Amino acid sequence: MEMISIQKIEQPKQKPDIHGIPFGTYFSDHMFLMDYVKGQGWINPRIVPYGPLHLEPSAMVFHYAQEIFEGLKAYRRADGGIQLFRPIENIRRMNNSAERLCIPEIPEDLFMEALKQLITLDSEWVPSEPNTSLYIRPFIIATDPHVGVHASHTYIFCIITCPVGSYYPEGMSPVRIMIENRDVRAVRGGTGYAKCGGNYAASLRASESALAEGFSQVLWLDGVYRKNIEEVGAMNVMFKINGKIVTPELAGSVLPGITRKSSIELLKSWGYDVEERTLTIDELIEAAQNGTLEEAWGTGTAAVISPIGEIRYEGKDYFLGGNTAESLNVIGPLTQKLYDTLTGIQWGTIEDSNNWIEPVC
Ligand SMILES: *Cc1c(COP(=O)(O)O)cnc(C)c1O
Repeated sequence: MEMISIQKIEQPKQKPDIHGIPFGTYFSDHMFLMDYVKGQGWINPRIVPYGPLHLEPSAMVFHYAQEIFEGLKAYRRADGGIQLFRPIENIRRMNNSAERLCIPEIPEDLFMEALKQLITLDSEWVPSEPNTSLYIRPFIIATDPHVGVHASHTYIFCIITCPVGSYYPEGMSPVRIMIENRDVRAVRGGTGYAKCGGNYAASLRASESALAEGFSQVLWLDGVYRKNIEEVGAMNVMFKINGKIVTPELAGSVLPGITRKSSIELLKSWGYDVEERTLTIDELIEAAQNGTLEEAWGTGTAAVISPIGEIRYEGKDYFLGGNTAESLNVIGPLTQKLYDTLTGIQWGTIEDSNNWIEPVC
């Protein structure tokens, strides 16, 4: 494995106050960079002070969106140590995304080493207040200076990090979501299972209009039949219907979330039936009407678990857990248990019996 060179910042930046810090705005002192040149592979791995990248306006990423990214967090334990949650899953998913977008894959051990060295060097940036963490954003961009459509021959791999506060500073509370029937996020055969910026660009119009109408997320339907539930915003989605857990299967258009995978594994270990299958909007609405839709939540690294309190479909509002407006503010017991268990493992207050934790220092 190639040695990672380190160029330290001369004057460390002042750290922002973690209380009320906006998500993803303040970046730590250093970043990891590595170049790809066709014929030479990934070269020149290095940690340097955080700062602007210099790119040609003709760089391919600006025109054809050949770009992928990841998102994970480093957590401070009570004993002062720092740990990651299933980082190998992020590394492998990034390489799967890379394959879909004709981007060269990154050796797993080099990627892991880059994460650990960067976090160790910037360890003072990992906050220690409850529910805070260091968000880690690895990404790859195509850099050929060429306005012509082909897979780039050169790339930059970069990792930046930023301290983030509690996702729920006022405590976890259920959100209102809206079923989207104009735009679709992804289709089978497209890039839905890859974590690429282009998917997000295509999702903005729907989420902007949902926000304008007072909803916090959209519930995406499939692109062909406009019937099957796929994801909620940029999270995977799960429903508790009549005691069983139902979540859309991974069939190409749904992003294979690591929080989704971990939730399924926990739920099964607790004895729940978890069905990864097609779930139509008709089945969901019927369950909401007859009171068997007990709980619903989104899963993702940023929020971990996001309880859903209300679903709007064709102008009508459906509420979770009994379908009355009072239930909007109630967090289901299983939703809460999942959140408590996952976050307990992530911050090291619950034993990691699944070997999900990767210590950094
Ligand atoms: C990243 C992402 C998720 C959640 O994945 P996690 O690994 O749980 O953070 C879900 N859906 C989309 C579209 C995503 O980009």
